[in-house]
Amino acid sequence: MKNFVTAVALLIGLTFSAHAETFLSVSDIHFDPFADPSLVPKLEAANVAQWPAILASSSTTTFSTYGSDVNDPLLRSAVAEMKTQLPKPAFVLISGDFLAHKFQQKYQQYATDKSQTAYTAFVTKTVAYVASVLRDAFPHVRIYPTLGNNDSDCGDYAVAPNSIFLANFRDIWSPAVDSRSFVRRFPTGGYYHADVPGVRNLRIIAINTNFFSTDYKNPCGKPGPDAGLQELRWLDDELRLARDEHKRVWLLFHIPPGMDVYDTMEYGGSCPGVKAQTFWKDQYQEPYLRITANHRATIRGSFAGHTHQDEFRIANGAFIHITPSISPVFGNNPAFEIVHINENAEVLDYTAHHLPNVTAPWAREYAFDEAYGQRRYDTASLAAIDSAMHDNTTMRTQFFTFMAAGAPKSAADALASWQGYACGFRMLTASSFMTCYCPASTSAPPH
Ligand SMILES: [Zn+2]
Repeated sequence: MKNFVTAVALLIGLTFSAHAETFLSVSDIHFDPFADPSLVPKLEAANVAQWPAILASSSTTTFSTYGSDVNDPLLRSAVAEMKTQLPKPAFVLISGDFLAHKFQQKYQQYATDKSQTAYTAFVTKTVAYVASVLRDAFPHVRIYPTLGNNDSDCGDYAVAPNSIFLANFRDIWSPAVDSRSFVRRFPTGGYYHADVPGVRNLRIIAINTNFFSTDYKNPCGKPGPDAGLQELRWLDDELRLARDEHKRVWLLFHIPPGMDVYDTMEYGGSCPGVKAQTFWKDQYQEPYLRITANHRATIRGSFAGHTHQDEFRIANGAFIHITPSISPVFGNNPAFEIVHINENAEVLDYTAHHLPNVTAPWAREYAFDEAYGQRRYDTASLAAIDSAMHDNTTMRTQFFTFMAAGAPKSAADALASWQGYACGFRMLTASSFMTCYCPASTSAPPH
């Protein structure tokens, strides 16, 4: 009997160590409260607690589709499906962009009070509404958000340090994040760290990479020290601290480092004169790559968004997983992912769920291990996928179909530029990308 009990305990132990926790990864929700413009004056006048009833009163009950951000029926459907698929996630990661594109323009068009004060209040209520939909679905679950480029009360790529918006965002999310660093740090620059309960030694360091973007400007902030460089100094200190405390770190951010492959392919021209476009300014990417290289033993991986595509980067020996968007605005299907990790916070596998043709029902799209025959989601498996796509056309087509969450046109467009993507997955700087993408033009001339 004793042996039997020991054997059962051992088996349970093995099962748990093989597959410790499951969490939800969500990105680019881009909620659009202007989708039914007739409701906007009511939303303006109301407290956010009244928003569910006002939004539910819309005569539009169908989902917003390709070319549009997320209306209330689509948001509700996506969150309901997350809950159906994973009622009790260990935690939720949200890699940014809560607000719809062109938020300010739409507000000016449809709102009655066009003042900055009223605008800030409306932006805040929109963030609070999205937070409430997620928190109602996942009460008592830690949710870790990060800022996207649209998450601002000053326009796209323009969040100001020490702004009212950052303080409001902190107030909305702090019960779900439950981190002292979030309470104290977030209002200064939109970054923080949080230790994940239930996953031994896992610390999330969420950084605001919007400051690093080639598109960032700060028209609403006060003049002061460079917010991006300040943040990098903080990151370096945080990584040192995490190392000393034997933490395993995941970085969470919206805009990843490395190449903007879409823009490079679309507007960069052809070899040998390709204008290779990175997402970040070199003045931030260079120190970032140095800092993260110094801490490669501490950083176990990163989670990002922004491209709306299901893809990845390999950076300094760690993966950057890019979670696809809920928004179908760029032509991909809405999707989210359920991620399995072991007790060492290593990613074993994930399953993508999508909404084909932005029309119900939701469906299980694929699981990483099944699709690629890989037992881990790590740099070795991603490098294997990246190199296999050169010769294996079936696998390549499949990869780009998943990248668009199964939307045929978006998949075909990305597939047509597959060589650019294959270089962009591994090459983070414009010059290394060029060496990969236009090899003949950058190699030494023959003697
Ligand atoms: Zn986005």
